[in-house]
Amino acid sequence: MTTAVRAATTTRRQAPTRPRRHRADRAFDVGVVVAVNALLLLALWIRHGGLDTLDAPGGAYTAIGQLTGLFGTYAVLIQLLLMSRIGWLEGWIGFDRLAVWHRWGGFASVVLLVAHAVFITLGYAESSGQSIPKQVGDFVQHYPDVLMSIVGLALFLAVAITSMRWARRKMSREAWYSVHLYAYLAVALSFAHQLSVGTDFSRDSLARAWWVALYVAVFGAILAWRVGRPVVFNLQHRLRVQSVQREANGVVSLYISGRRLGDVRAEAGQFFLWRFLSGTGWTKAHPFSLSGAPNPRFLRITVKDLGDDTRQMQRIKPGVRVFAEGPYGTFTAQKRTRPRVALIGGGIGITPLRALLQTLPDQTGDVTLLYRAATEGDVAFRKELDVFAARGVDVRILVGTDIGDDQTDQLGIPALRHHIPDIAARDVYVCGPPAMLNAVVRRLDVIGVPPEHVHYERFEY
Ligand SMILES: Cc1cc2nc3c(=O)[nH]c(=O)nc-3n(C[C@H](O)[C@H](O)[C@H](O)COP(=O)(O)OP(=O)(O)OC[C@H]3O[C@@H](n4cnc5c(N)ncnc54)[C@H](O)[C@@H]3O)c2cc1C
Repeated sequence: MTTAVRAATTTRRQAPTRPRRHRADRAFDVGVVVAVNALLLLALWIRHGGLDTLDAPGGAYTAIGQLTGLFGTYAVLIQLLLMSRIGWLEGWIGFDRLAVWHRWGGFASVVLLVAHAVFITLGYAESSGQSIPKQVGDFVQHYPDVLMSIVGLALFLAVAITSMRWARRKMSREAWYSVHLYAYLAVALSFAHQLSVGTDFSRDSLARAWWVALYVAVFGAILAWRVGRPVVFNLQHRLRVQSVQREANGVVSLYISGRRLGDVRAEAGQFFLWRFLSGTGWTKAHPFSLSGAPNPRFLRITVKDLGDDTRQMQRIKPGVRVFAEGPYGTFTAQKRTRPRVALIGGGIGITPLRALLQTLPDQTGDVTLLYRAATEGDVAFRKELDVFAARGVDVRILVGTDIGDDQTDQLGIPALRHHIPDIAARDVYVCGPPAMLNAVVRRLDVIGVPPEHVHYERFEY
């Protein structure tokens, strides 16, 4: 066995544990804080005469406009918090689930803000007896900071529209992300009018202080977790590409060295966002899972050529500086609650499973790996998998390009039952291309694996 293979397959067993309780406690605390602040918002509106507004001309419109404005803005702050990458929140809920919440919460926030603009305009127009265009002109000319907030709303709309599926399909990820960043500008542009013309904040200094404190807390979290923590991490570890090793067709492993790697608090199965100071530049961060358990000598990722940047990474030179942000993800051995485990991987989805092999038990029969690859030349980590097989892991490599249905596929229901007869009694970890992952998760449900025992990592968000 070569030194590299030995180093990469060293097993660090982990006892089966449930997700740490204190994380759940903290997420519950966050839920309570969010709910209490929402109630405060409603109480504030009532205290400032919100219900009395209903009796005035156009009052119902104005009241709806005020409430949608308050809750729409509050929802935007929550969206920012969800994406602030607070380590323990992410560790408990998971990056992909937070991204899904952010996606739907984001659309809901923009709907509320558009409703705010529409209803406030209708309400004020009715109360002043003006036409809608005149009312809009009045807002722009005589109400401080409202023009800025209209520009902010247009930016929020651009962010929402470019995040719809049909638009995402037409845009590159970079273009979509660049537009997405304008949400921060939109938040800044809308802020001033909340304090200068917002009924609830313009005349109540305590309410204003509380509202500003919410902004400070959210932006403080963003600065701490999205900027401060990665900067400190990278100053501490000073990562560089140490060597590049070909694993399969269009697949390379990057061994990344640095200082004090033993202090990196990552687990097998997790991923980082990586930036390389090479052709791909600092500006683009790409998620890659660790393909081996972290150890004091190196971190390892394995990259498949799936696009422009991953193609360039195939030719990356040793010595290139690396900036990593993470670790993220909950696809770890901590999720395991049963003694036996099945790992099901497709294509490059093998990477986190390969790392997990180092932290799962390897008594004969306890771990089965089903690894599907298109051709023999696409099978990665062959030597390392042989080492695990020799230690008792049941490694089954399924080669083939034919995609069948639930009954005929190489990972169809009969095949899963055939390869792992007791699969319903195991924890099952799945990673692979979205179509394969969705199909396998559905089939596991049919076979009777309870959803809480199915863990998966989606290579897209
Ligand atoms: C949690 C996670 C773990 C991953 N782990 C691995 C891994 O271990 N090995 C591996 O080879 N690949 C992994 N991927 C996929 C990998 O991130 C993308 O293949 C890579 O970012 C594509 O970059 P590109 O510029 O070459 O491709 P592009 O030409 O830009 O796009 C190719 C495909 O990759 C998607 N993609 C591009 N950039 C990103 C991004 N920043 N985040 C998410 N998706 C993106 C695009 O939407 C498109 O579907 C992982 C993805 C996720 C979300």
